[in-house]
Amino acid sequence: MRDAIVNVMTIDVEDYFHVSVFDGVVPRARWDRLESRVCRNTERLLDLFDEHRVRATFFILGWVAERHPALVARIAGAGHEVACHSHEHRLVYDLTRAQFRDDVRRAKAAIETAASRRVFGYRAPSYSITPQSLWALDVLIEEGFTYDASIFPIRHDRYGIPLSPRHPYLVTRDHGVLYEVPATTVRVGPVNLPVAGGGYFRILPYAWTRWGIDRVNRCEQRAAIFYLHPWEIDPDQPRLATSRLGQFRHYRNLHDTEARLRALLRDFSFGRLIDVLETEPRAVSAPAGLEPSLPYVW
Ligand SMILES: [Zn+2]
Repeated sequence: MRDAIVNVMTIDVEDYFHVSVFDGVVPRARWDRLESRVCRNTERLLDLFDEHRVRATFFILGWVAERHPALVARIAGAGHEVACHSHEHRLVYDLTRAQFRDDVRRAKAAIETAASRRVFGYRAPSYSITPQSLWALDVLIEEGFTYDASIFPIRHDRYGIPLSPRHPYLVTRDHGVLYEVPATTVRVGPVNLPVAGGGYFRILPYAWTRWGIDRVNRCEQRAAIFYLHPWEIDPDQPRLATSRLGQFRHYRNLHDTEARLRALLRDFSFGRLIDVLETEPRAVSAPAGLEPSLPYVW
């Protein structure tokens, strides 16, 4: 089944020990001493995308770009979009405005230098732009970003603005405008349910993702924004200690994810975020009950 709508494939390029679930378990000072698996896992994804003639958007950690510039160059050289996933994978709502600016600036410079391409997009670690950290959008505008992909319109214990729009929209702030590109959800009754990526793709049956993307494509005639991490196709990664919930979220079904990804690439069309954004409408309708704290253009 090939749908006419081109969806968006995004990869957050980080190693298994960067994941927020291991904050406090693996101190940042120890990162350089752990076995790095990000290059081989990302190269596996690149081969898979090449096989399926898919170009994707790679949100890269600046920390990774500084240590593995050849990987960043290979991503860009294959025609994929390079974008920014922060420098040190710190949650935005734990940072001051100045700390966030320093982190983003360092990451953007490292990625642009390694890729010899301009970076337009940003995605926060663990979708950590929430009502408490909306000021981060101002910093992203000031630092020259065109879009952000950090606001998840769901209810979750660590992130999310449940009533924010479900499809790309334009945010106006004092210093300019920025596109916001939410990861895809389906609306079921009064709630938005995540259907397109990460743990939701890995832990729930593949039929859930297929149904959700098909519904967004067919019923809403919109592109789905999908996301995954290189470590999610690596069942042999070293096991790190964390909470029981953390273990479940991180390690569940790692052995099955690559096969699911192959099925997804067969079932739907995918492209780069920057290309799909250009075809998206520039204004959106405000959904009922929209929180007034976010300034939308519609
Ligand atoms: Zn991440």
